[in-house]
Amino acid sequence: MSDVYAELTTGADPTDPATLARYTTLRLGGTAGRLETATSAEEIVQKVQEAQGRDEPVLILAGGSNVVIGDQGFPGTVVLVRSRGFRVVAEGADTVTVRVEAGEPWDDLVAATVANGWSGLECLSGIPGSAGATPIQNVGAYGQEVAETITGVQVYDRTDGSVSRIDAADCGFAYRSSIFKYSDRWAVLSVDFRLTRSPLSGPVRYAELARALGADVGDRVPLADARATVLRLRAGKGMVLDADDPDTWSVGSFFTNPVLEREAYELLRERAADLGEPPSWPGAGDVVKVSAAWLIDKAGFAKGHPGPEGVAISSKHTLALTNRSGTASTAALVALAREIRDAVHDRFGVTLHPEPVLINCII
Ligand SMILES: Cc1cc2nc3c(=O)[nH]c(=O)nc-3n(C[C@H](O)[C@H](O)[C@H](O)COP(=O)(O)OP(=O)(O)OC[C@H]3O[C@@H](n4cnc5c(N)ncnc54)[C@H](O)[C@@H]3O)c2cc1C
Repeated sequence: MSDVYAELTTGADPTDPATLARYTTLRLGGTAGRLETATSAEEIVQKVQEAQGRDEPVLILAGGSNVVIGDQGFPGTVVLVRSRGFRVVAEGADTVTVRVEAGEPWDDLVAATVANGWSGLECLSGIPGSAGATPIQNVGAYGQEVAETITGVQVYDRTDGSVSRIDAADCGFAYRSSIFKYSDRWAVLSVDFRLTRSPLSGPVRYAELARALGADVGDRVPLADARATVLRLRAGKGMVLDADDPDTWSVGSFFTNPVLEREAYELLRERAADLGEPPSWPGAGDVVKVSAAWLIDKAGFAKGHPGPEGVAISSKHTLALTNRSGTASTAALVALAREIRDAVHDRFGVTLHPEPVLINCII
């Protein structure tokens, strides 16, 4: 197991090796029926097939940074993905395509691409977890998302036992979503990213990042500057994992930004008239994406707002729910999430949806 994944075990109960809290960044989750570790694509296939042969449910878990696992745990086999490495599989005049094993720690990959002068992932610096999980919710941050660079995903298909490639166009990538999210049909074995050979980033799209870089939106900046600035901004929001900082014992953003039809957006504006204009961005088509953090804050939940058993909204970021005490239960975290969701709905008529995958728990 790599150091990156080992780090995630700190703070969890060390007495039971199958306690899933050891493998999630929230440090929450009951016991697995059986725990298997896969260190290669072949082993991922093998472990999943063996569990299928035993007629057991299977949970594929990598960095555990985007899951909320119930206190009763998972009754079947949990396959821990710990395959590593990446290699160049194609080169064009200005591009390079890298195939990345599913268990490769995501930020190690981003650091390597920046060091190699390969542009395309730099704004995704500091996101925890594995490369293989990035297609699951089309990971994104600071104006970049993996859908822009993924060309295909190698998968094991549990419905027919085949190993195949799904081209990016067939992955159904959307905002924090894809065909893989909430489906247990596929195990991701490796992911192909096509990157641009360039010492400069893509055009900076995110205003806060541009400001912090002393650049304008649309400018290109040295890759290392983009990475360093993103890491600094993220750390200030508790969005870089730190074993010593309980403000980062979260799944990052707990709720996605609601995407509203025009009519629903106008209703929100009416209900929020006394609070000023809700921060929003145009979505694809006639929809508007609204800031979940703003809705939560204006519904009365400040940073640091406590819930039961020492869970709390992060003191650095309104969207992150944390197991601040390190000793809370999933039930306590879920109770806080429900309180927030219901209050936002009562105040604004907007329903917040959780971003992480919920396993054996319901919000
Ligand atoms: C502090 C912090 C900051 C974060 N910031 C961001 C951010 O800026 N943007 C963002 O998009 N996300 C963010 N996240 C969420 C999370 O880091 C990403 O979604 C990450 O890609 C999850 O990777 P993982 O390996 O931890 O996945 P896990 O949590 O292990 O799994 C997540 C889901 O993917 C499935 N899965 C994982 N690996 C595989 C595989 N090989 N095959 C099939 N299914 C698989 C699991 O079954 C589960 O359903 C943040 C999380 C934290 C804790």
